[in-house]
Amino acid sequence: MIELLFLLLPVAMAYGWFMGRNSVKQNQQTAKQDLSIKYSTGLNYLLSNQEDKAIDSLLDALKVEDDSVEAHFAMANLFRKRGELDRALKVHEHLVRLGHLPTKDKQQAVYELGKDFLSAGLYDRAEKMFSKLLKSKTYGLKSLTFLLQIYQSTKDWQQGLTHKKLALKLADKRILHTLANFYCELATSAFEQDKYREVIELLEEALILDPNSCRANWLMAKIYENHQQCHQAAQCYQDIYHQDKEFFPDVIEPMFVCYQKLDAEDEFYKFIKKVYDETASSSALICYLTYVSQQHGDGKAKEFILTALKRRPTIRGFQHFVKMQMKQSDDVVNNTSLDLIKELISEYINIKHRYSCRSCGFNSSTHYWSCPSCHEWEQLKPVRGLEGE
Ligand SMILES: [Zn+2]
Repeated sequence: MIELLFLLLPVAMAYGWFMGRNSVKQNQQTAKQDLSIKYSTGLNYLLSNQEDKAIDSLLDALKVEDDSVEAHFAMANLFRKRGELDRALKVHEHLVRLGHLPTKDKQQAVYELGKDFLSAGLYDRAEKMFSKLLKSKTYGLKSLTFLLQIYQSTKDWQQGLTHKKLALKLADKRILHTLANFYCELATSAFEQDKYREVIELLEEALILDPNSCRANWLMAKIYENHQQCHQAAQCYQDIYHQDKEFFPDVIEPMFVCYQKLDAEDEFYKFIKKVYDETASSSALICYLTYVSQQHGDGKAKEFILTALKRRPTIRGFQHFVKMQMKQSDDVVNNTSLDLIKELISEYINIKHRYSCRSCGFNSSTHYWSCPSCHEWEQLKPVRGLEGE
């Protein structure tokens, strides 16, 4: 009898294995059917425009299977694009709450949730999300960029600068350029209170982060001039030219005043001639003509401007030429006509924008360090071409 039992043992094991496999298969089958039902229900809700019910149904499906995570990201991003932020938030929050997601997906969910909060203007919540990702290889730099965007909107320059160490480690030029401007913002406040030492120290920090920040040198020149250190100021003005030739036309006037204080006008005009030769800027041309006129007479100045206008015609250059013609002519009738032309050109120039953003094309008559349209720093520069520089 016992022998018979031993013989039946392998049969019992085989039966157990067979039944067990069937039971797993059955469970999988049931889960798939369940998932399929939830998706179908979700789609039905979508088709009948009951989007909130559709989201609930699809989110419920996600609990069962992770293969659909990408589809959920796509769905939430679509909601955000359409401006349906509450729905995008619902999906991303659900993804963040899911405990079993891989780290990559979890980080993506936190990052997208941060973007949702930012779009909704909920800066404190967005800040929390992006701060969580600063150590992430994939999202660290992107999150820091968004964090700095938040601090720029809230004018919390000090808070932005707490991330300086990470910015230096990441060595991203755009981030460093932004932080240099945060230093410039603090320096501007200190400048308004005439805190000389503080301004210099802040601007030095700005120039360490971004040696090409012409804004830092522009402020530095101003504080030096205010404290009768014109030699240092003159050097800053020259540095601006080497940093950003397009911005330089705006510096010509204060630079001239600085060289006047140094009694070094010849040196100034020598520099301006170099600027004109290299850039053909109309501001540099008009400035240099004063020198030609003083040194070699009005006739030579007129010859100079005619050659310059033939080489590169600009409205501002032509306006100056008309002014010179009027100055040299005693003919009253002729001068009345020239005066009319001059007025017309002035009107024309006045309706044209002086600055354009090199990043987004935004035009403005006023200069801003941060573009009001795209918020990029130091991108508003004098317009080039026939109607500009
Ligand atoms: Zn812009």
